[in-house]
Amino acid sequence: MELLFRDDAYARSCEATVISADPSGIRLDRTVFYPMGGGQPGDVGLLRLADGTAIPIRDTVKGEGPNEVVHLPAEGMALPAPGARVTAEIDWPRRYRLMRMHTCLHLLSAVVPGDVTGGQVGDGKGRLDFNLPDTALDKDRVTAELNRLVREDHPVRPRWITDEELSSRPELVRTMSVKPPMGTGRVRLLDIEGVDLQPCGGTHVARTAEIGAVLVSKIESKGRQNRRINLAFAEPA
Ligand SMILES: [Zn+2]
Repeated sequence: MELLFRDDAYARSCEATVISADPSGIRLDRTVFYPMGGGQPGDVGLLRLADGTAIPIRDTVKGEGPNEVVHLPAEGMALPAPGARVTAEIDWPRRYRLMRMHTCLHLLSAVVPGDVTGGQVGDGKGRLDFNLPDTALDKDRVTAELNRLVREDHPVRPRWITDEELSSRPELVRTMSVKPPMGTGRVRLLDIEGVDLQPCGGTHVARTAEIGAVLVSKIESKGRQNRRINLAFAEPA
């Protein structure tokens, strides 16, 4: 399966051929739909058939194979036949909000010291957990530093390194809970120029200014060594 979102996060739709379709999901030969993973939700959208029928896709998940994406159709929809041509269209406004927030979580991990132990991108919000002792983290200071990095408009680019290079540079991995997907020979890094470099398979905006103004909505203590920082967009979308 060709994963178009990996090289072009801005691709909103693509033509594709149905490989298989059953109640457990629809598999295509190529897709723009991002499957849930790495703290980013799966895409929603629709598959449009040649006769104009639209099959709503309520979620997207990973299949068993390394590059397998499973599109979950809305309940009770008639399924397309294998070999059918479809146009796959994601819900772009939602995906773009997820891309902006996901990219902002990379900025957050660069601004706050400590290892990241977990995280979640949501629609209009996001959070990271840090392995940090009981230090004074100031909401306003973190908010100001994030917005400075947003305004500085740093370029954001994916690039690939080999498994061996990554193994020799353990400092690249700041996330303890989400292991980078190794074993296929190469690993995708996300490079925010001059700010952050770490393995990530998600979708991101091309420049930090696209994130827009953000704020730290809440800092929570989740145990002695765990600080959860919650972000939101400063202006509702
Ligand atoms: Zn990422």
